[in-house]
Amino acid sequence: MHEFPRGKANDVDAAVAAAEAAWEEGTWAGMSAAERADIVTKMAQGIEDNIEMLAEIEAADVGKPYRQAAMTLGGAAGEGKYWCSLGKVLDAEQDVPVNSGGGEGGVPPAEWDVVYRRDPIGVIGLISAWNYPMNVAFRKVAPALVAGNCAILKPSEIAGLSCMFIGKLAQDAGIPPGVFNVVTGDRDAGAALAASPSVSMISFTGSTLTGSKIMGACAPKLSQVALELGGKSALVVFDDTDLDKAVETTMKGFLANGGQICTAHTRLVVQDSIKAPLLKKLKEELEKLPFCNDPITEKDRGDRAWEAGMTDVVQPVVCDSQHKKIMGFLHEAKAAGVEVLTGGDVPDDETVGNSGGYFIQPTVLINVERDADVWQKEVFGPVLSVRSFSTEDDAVLEANSTAFGLASTVMSSDPAKAMRVANRIRAGAVFATSTGEGLLAEHPAVSRGGFGFSGVGRELGIGGLHEYTELKSVNYTGFSLADAKKQRTG
Ligand code: NAD
Repeated sequence: MHEFPRGKANDVDAAVAAAEAAWEEGTWAGMSAAERADIVTKMAQGIEDNIEMLAEIEAADVGKPYRQAAMTLGGAAGEGKYWCSLGKVLDAEQDVPVNSGGGEGGVPPAEWDVVYRRDPIGVIGLISAWNYPMNVAFRKVAPALVAGNCAILKPSEIAGLSCMFIGKLAQDAGIPPGVFNVVTGDRDAGAALAASPSVSMISFTGSTLTGSKIMGACAPKLSQVALELGGKSALVVFDDTDLDKAVETTMKGFLANGGQICTAHTRLVVQDSIKAPLLKKLKEELEKLPFCNDPITEKDRGDRAWEAGMTDVVQPVVCDSQHKKIMGFLHEAKAAGVEVLTGGDVPDDETVGNSGGYFIQPTVLINVERDADVWQKEVFGPVLSVRSFSTEDDAVLEANSTAFGLASTVMSSDPAKAMRVANRIRAGAVFATSTGEGLLAEHPAVSRGGFGFSGVGRELGIGGLHEYTELKSVNYTGFSLADAKKQRTG
C-alpha cells in the first residue's frame, strides 16, 4: 500500500539532534503551558478536520472498518483537546505551596516558602503501536508537547501512515522547528531512540516483550519510562446477569477491532450455573456474524462496538505476521487438547466474500487449563478462552490468574457483589456492570495503565500529563516567593 524509509540510527540521531537544539534554545519550554496548548489545539483540530481522509487511511492500513476508524479518530481529536485544556491546569500547579498531605510532622517551618513546580523532562521519545495508530500516537504527542518537552515520534512500521500526518499538523500549527519530529522505521529505529543518551524519557505503547527491552535500554542512563503494554483481560459473569447482555458484552469484549485491542476481554470467566446457556447462545450469535467485505468502501457496516454495544462485522487482522502468530496459538492449543466451541480456523473465501484478507474465524476455546498459553499469553486476535467458577473467591482467583493487569470486567445484577469483586481484581481499569455498558470505554480524564506485565505509569487524566513532567520543589528562605515574583515582574 505504501513504503516508508526504514530509519537507521543516523536518522534517529538527526532527529534527536534537532530536538536537543530546540530544547537548548528554550522557546518551547519557556512558554506557558496554556500558550503551548493553544498551538497543540490546532493539531487536534487538524485531526478533526481530516477525519474522513484519515479514516480511509487507517481502514486501508489496519484493515479496520471505516466506521470504526472514523469514530476512534474523532476520539483522538477530542482527547487532544482535553490534553490542551489541561495547559492552564498545569500552569496553575506551578509554585503551589507544599502541604503536609494531611500527615503529621511533615510541614516545613511557617516562615519558609516551599513550593512545587512541574518542569518538562527534555528530549523524549514516543514509540507507538499500530492497532489505533493515530489515537495511540497522539495520546503521547499532545501531552508531551503541552508539558513543554521536545519529542521524536517513531510510529509502528506495520501501520503508521496516519501518524505521518501529525508531522504536517505540527508544521501547520506553528510548532517551532525541532520541537516535534517523526522518524519512520522498525524495531531498529525504536531501539536507537530508546538507547540514545540524549533522550531522557521513552513513552511506549506496544507489547510486553518490547516494553521490557525498552526498560533495559533506558536502565543504564536512568531515563524515565512510561510503558503501556499488553493485556489478557477477564470478563467475569455471575449467573444473575441477563443472558443476552452477557453474550453481547462477551462478543464486544473480544471482537472489537478484531480482538486487536490492549484491553480486549479475551478470557471469559463464567459461573458454572450459567455456562451452558451462555456458550450455546454465544456460539449461535458468533456464527451469524458477517465478515467485512471491504473496510474502506463498505461504509454502512462496521464495528459498532463503540456506539451500539455490539460488534456486527468480523474484520481481518492487520497483516500476515499477526495472522501467522494467531494461527500458531490456535494450532498449539488444538494440539494440546483444548476444545474449540466455534471457529478455530481461517474462513473460506466463499464465506468471507473477499479473498485476500487476513481473516480468522471468531474463535471460542473451552476446557482451557489455567497454565495454557491461550489463557496466559496475549493472542491479539479474535480468540476467546473460557473457564468457569462456582464461588466468588474462585471468580477472583480466575480473573487474577495471569501476569497481566490492564483491564477486567465483572457482570452481575448484584451491585454489592460486583463491587466486592471489582475491588479485588488486580487491573488498572475495572468495569463493574449489570449491562455491559461502558466496556472498553476510555474517558480522557480517567487515568489508566497496567499492573504487572501490562505496564509502568499511567496515561490520560492529569496523572497522564504529569508523566511528561519532573516534579521539583523550590525552597525560598530569607525572602518570600511573593518578593521573588514581584522582582521578576517589576
Ligand atoms: P510491538 O511491541 O511489536 O511494537 C511497538 C512499537 O515498538 C513499534 O513502533 C515497533 O517498531 C517498536 N519496537 C519494536 N522493538 C523495539 C525495540 N527493541 N526497541 C524499541 N522499539 C521497538 O507492539 P505492536 O505489535 O505494534 O502493538 C501491539 C501491542 O501493543 C499489544 O501487545 C497491545 O496490547 C499493545 N497495546 C497496548 C496499549 C495500552 O494502552 N496498554 C494500547 C495499544 C496497544
